[in-house]
Amino acid sequence: MDFNNQTSCKNCDEPLTTPFCGHCGQPKAVRITFKELMRTIQMGLLEFRSPFLHTFKMLTIAPGKVCRDYVEGKRERYFNPIKYALWVVTVTVFISAFTNNSLSDFQAFGEISSTKSEDDKQFSATLRNLIDSSQFFIVFFYAAVFALVLRIFFRKQDFNIFELYILAILPSAHITWVTAILVGLGWYNTPSGIAVTTLIGFVFCIYAYTTFFDGKWLPNLVRSLVSYILAMLLFVFSFGLSIGIAAGVKHAQDQEVSIEQQEVVDAFEETKAN
Ligand SMILES: [Zn+2]
Repeated sequence: MDFNNQTSCKNCDEPLTTPFCGHCGQPKAVRITFKELMRTIQMGLLEFRSPFLHTFKMLTIAPGKVCRDYVEGKRERYFNPIKYALWVVTVTVFISAFTNNSLSDFQAFGEISSTKSEDDKQFSATLRNLIDSSQFFIVFFYAAVFALVLRIFFRKQDFNIFELYILAILPSAHITWVTAILVGLGWYNTPSGIAVTTLIGFVFCIYAYTTFFDGKWLPNLVRSLVSYILAMLLFVFSFGLSIGIAAGVKHAQDQEVSIEQQEVVDAFEETKAN
């Protein structure tokens, strides 16, 4: 490894004449020493913490403004919205796994009563595992549904569906911190936990939408309310349908496997008996 005579960029191989590469922007690379490692750690913490904490703080106070800033090109000061959503979900899934509290334990709703058959219980377990393992997909799918509905209700404003995707994903991602805490406390899947997250999510997202758009606040509020409710219904319906079908297929496959296994066992027992 030669770091002394650098005539080309170590990162992209373009000719290097200045301390920074004109092609990819990487500074002239130095060998990783103790000092360089300490600097990397310091920079890593700073580069992560500073935009992250700023985004966290600003999202809490003015979610509509953060989304608007981002869409309008004021991006460097904020954490990447998709990265932000991924971080929240990762933390939530981690807390869920660590505390062994499911993100979709329907027992809390009393859906699995003792009178239900073994088959129903198995189906519920399949459904729960499927929902728990598709949290990342859920976030992006959810935002897509909300972006679509917002585009329809605010079609007169100059935002395309992809810009509205930022508005659809950031406030709902931010609210997931509440979910993460409730999951950690084992309170998420109780009726009161559900009520709290639903209510906070509702109020916070309406606040974000209303302050994001131009024009009079009252018509914006009404449009935001209608969009939120419709998008939520559309999401619950389409997600419920797809996850229900997926769980049904998986359940049927599992059943088939267990029947096949039973047949093999039966055949074995039969040959043994003969
Ligand atoms: Zn370069």
